[in-house]
Amino acid sequence: MDLTKLTLKEAVEFSKENGVQPVLDAFQKRAGLLNSRINAFLRCDSLLEKMSIPGTSALLAGVPISIKDNICIEGREVTCASKILAKHVPPYDATVIEKLKSAGATIFHQCNMDEFALGSSCETSAFGACRNPWDFNCVPGGSSGGSAAAVAADMTVAAIGSDSGGSIRQPAALCGVVGVKPTYGRVSRYGLIAFGSSFDQIGPITKTVEDAAILMNVISGHDPKDSTSAPGDVPDFTQSLKRQVKGLRIGLPTEYFIEGIDPEVEKAVRQAGEIYKRLGAEIKIISLPHTEYSVAVYYIVAVAEASSNLGRFDGVEYGLRIPSKDLREMYFETRNQGFGQEAKRRILLGTFVLSAGYYDAFYLKGQKVRTLIRRDFEKAFKEVDVILSPTSPTPAFKIGERTEDPIAMYLSDIFTIPANLAGIPAMSVPCGFTAGGLPIGLQLMARPFDETTLFRAAYTFEQETGVYKKKPKLD
Ligand code: GLN
Repeated sequence: MDLTKLTLKEAVEFSKENGVQPVLDAFQKRAGLLNSRINAFLRCDSLLEKMSIPGTSALLAGVPISIKDNICIEGREVTCASKILAKHVPPYDATVIEKLKSAGATIFHQCNMDEFALGSSCETSAFGACRNPWDFNCVPGGSSGGSAAAVAADMTVAAIGSDSGGSIRQPAALCGVVGVKPTYGRVSRYGLIAFGSSFDQIGPITKTVEDAAILMNVISGHDPKDSTSAPGDVPDFTQSLKRQVKGLRIGLPTEYFIEGIDPEVEKAVRQAGEIYKRLGAEIKIISLPHTEYSVAVYYIVAVAEASSNLGRFDGVEYGLRIPSKDLREMYFETRNQGFGQEAKRRILLGTFVLSAGYYDAFYLKGQKVRTLIRRDFEKAFKEVDVILSPTSPTPAFKIGERTEDPIAMYLSDIFTIPANLAGIPAMSVPCGFTAGGLPIGLQLMARPFDETTLFRAAYTFEQETGVYKKKPKLD
């Protein structure tokens, strides 16, 4: 039996009976074989440090979970795929890591990503692009590209990513796996190296909807260490894994089926709507009229927050320091040599939109339009329970294809950004393949804190279609 083909649920069951070592060894071997070609894991060749392997009676029974490299793990280097954090070792665990460890997971390798989660292709990583397991000439999406590629290639059981504008869902779609962006506040951001603090959420990337529900149960919940984390109880998400969409009201927003969307993607998503209808859901055409401003608003508000968050990397407290003749030059040289091009672009844009005289025209206005976008959703959710759309307007694109054209790159997230602007939960599930064999993702969005409906709708679709069973040919 090839243990790397197991889902999280199955790997836990197997490990409870047979101990965790066989599963860990299988994934370690496969990761070692594939990583030089895919580059999903950073520092993969460093021997797995001596891990205290948790008891197999624990909830996750020691199974390997991989972590996007912007989440702090005590005693392990964290880089955000940037040179500027070189050799920075956090002295504490992020809350999600603490929760995963206490559920008995083995923290297994740190995943490649776009530098500081700024990107949609994993190409801005300072440690080389990650490749899409379905086609090595294509990007895996981003910014959690390494997390999605590792899961798709069976190099790990499941992974944790972060999503500020689509960074879990878009790579999940492009790699043919499941990705969940929880409601803003559902999962603690303590120990996540911030990009856009009012957008960032941590979430799971998995092979199945069930696996995502299991991980959401582990990582969700109020955390006094994160002032934006929401109080209140967390439901058991695995309870919503039912094939039951009869009477569910599903909206298809007209603004999400626009010119420029790949015809194969559009067809697959419309077919998904038909499948839901056949299963008894009610399909409605809805309107989210301010959608067209989403990308512009995001690239004002998120870059403002990014420029502020990245201000702390100046050669004093973290990572890289370029020795220079005086303090000012040291700041300058460290940031100049430490940050890549996209990070610099965002810092410049963010500093500009926050600067005196421009604040009202850009940042403040952006915040107001953000409110309008949130209200669009509030209105829509009076009529429907779930909104369906493509996750990404195109399937995986070629490496290098959009690197010279930032606007084309930014448009990759046109359908995922609105959920971050509104703070609502959203997920991507595999819904088909292009004629060329590339995966297509279906996005589902729901009301704030209504992940249970998302899980039910996604599970029903997944079980009905079985799309997730197809694997990239890597052996
Ligand atoms: N691709 C988007 C960006 O570049 C979103 C990134 C993210 O969600 N972290 O900002």
